[in-house]
Amino acid sequence: MKAVCWHGAKDVRVDNVPDPKILNPRDAIIRITSTAICGSDLHLYDGFIPTMKSGDILGHEFMGEVVEVGSETQNLKIGDRVVVPFTISCGNCFFCQRDLWSLCDNTNPNG
Ligand SMILES: [Zn+2]
Ligand SMILES: [Zn+2]
Repeated sequence: MKAVCWHGAKDVRVDNVPDPKILNPRDAIIRITSTAICGSDLHLYDGFIPTMKSGDILGHEFMGEVVEVGSETQNLKIGDRVVVPFTISCGNCFFCQRDLWSLCDNTNPNG
């Protein structure tokens, strides 16, 4: 698939990257139909995030169609149309159960 990738401060390119895979049984893969660059992407573009590595894929707000779901995904099915906001949360951890979505323990396994 094609993706917008970061290669350094003020150097982003559209690259061919491997197709996504289900890594967690609660994952879903979305075929993106619309997206846009977010203001927070500018921090990456300008080089203010020291953990960025060349080839990292940008983008985190989009809409599209579900094309694959993991074996434990309960609230989505293939063909559903979805809007994905900036907070991607599991819905089941300590923080998600208290509506503290941005603190989700499972969104970033390397947090
Ligand atoms: Zn954003
Ligand atoms: Zn969570």
